Amino acid sequence: MQITDISAYPLRCELERPFSYSQKWFTHRTALLVKITTDDGTVGWGDVFCHDAGPALAVLIERTYAPLLKGRNPLDIAVLWDMIYNWTKDYGQKGLTTAALSGIDIALWDIFGKTTGLPISQLLGGAFRDRVQGYATGLYRVQSDDVLNHLVEEARGYVEQGFRAVKMKVGFGVQEDIRCVRAIRQAIGHGIDLMVDANHAYDVPSAIRLGRVLEEVGVAWFEEPVSPEDIEGYCAVRQALDIPIAGGEAEFTRYGFRRFVCAGAVDIVQPDICIAGGISEGIKIADLARTWHVRCLPHVWGTAVGLAASLHYIAALPDTPPSLNPQPMVLELDQTEHALRHITKEPIRFENGFVHVPDGPGLGVEVDESRLMPYLID
Ligand code: MG
Repeated sequence: MQITDISAYPLRCELERPFSYSQKWFTHRTALLVKITTDDGTVGWGDVFCHDAGPALAVLIERTYAPLLKGRNPLDIAVLWDMIYNWTKDYGQKGLTTAALSGIDIALWDIFGKTTGLPISQLLGGAFRDRVQGYATGLYRVQSDDVLNHLVEEARGYVEQGFRAVKMKVGFGVQEDIRCVRAIRQAIGHGIDLMVDANHAYDVPSAIRLGRVLEEVGVAWFEEPVSPEDIEGYCAVRQALDIPIAGGEAEFTRYGFRRFVCAGAVDIVQPDICIAGGISEGIKIADLARTWHVRCLPHVWGTAVGLAASLHYIAALPDTPPSLNPQPMVLELDQTEHALRHITKEPIRFENGFVHVPDGPGLGVEVDESRLMPYLID
């Protein structure tokens, strides 16, 4: 079996209603899909978390990585991962090089599954669960005359849809965040988990000041309180507060996560397998976290391909710590507008707050290429 072709699809779709988080406004969503074809006609798909770097990543994949991979056995996933990582190690290790590698790795796992007739979660050692509790990631800012009321109504909507956990954006100023967090907690009650995500908008004193109120309000975790480079800052925030600290969506590979985990910077690591090194590296990061008794709850903000890959990944991770009534593994379900979440022939099922892990071969979902074409960047 040989790899015969590797194609990259940079995609962009405009938003009907722009939204912002603590760092910037979004007027459009982007994605990069990777398609690997083999000599027997098998096709595997991967997803790269890329923001606006899709076209640059497409060049990297098609001009630099594809020549290395053509003619190779796609089932040599670990061998190929190592080859690519080491090829760009002197100037890579993180960022776009690792992102591109992530998409390739996911596509290779899809091919492995389709070739064996097994779902990826089975190939990873088996699924600990066939459905995963989803939490709603939303509550971004939109242009509105009444921001608070808009947020409250949105949060109530998630509860009505069956979500048992909701994550809101903070990082808009400590006092503004406190006003909004209190309002959301009052709107959803104490029976629903509430998480907050600052997307590294704060320094240590501000994060701790907000965190004291988050303790009082009762949040399940405080995500990215400070800048991802500031490991010491993470440690200071974590030591000052009694709520779990989460982070890692802007970190890469087991080597990057080693710094986070071994420093005691976080209670929860959040690798995104579409940027941190793919499914292969995601398993190693989860193993590293478990070895240090840190929870691993992946970041997910991609297309249906990334969502399916993340479901298999999460399905294959045990509860940490194990018990009769463990803290649930949860799947981040992005609720913002994103046309590229609907590119597969069969939708991923969400029922009563849970998402079903696809049980077909590979990713268990088939990309409908005709749905990509309207969004393809030339
Ligand atoms: Mg986040």
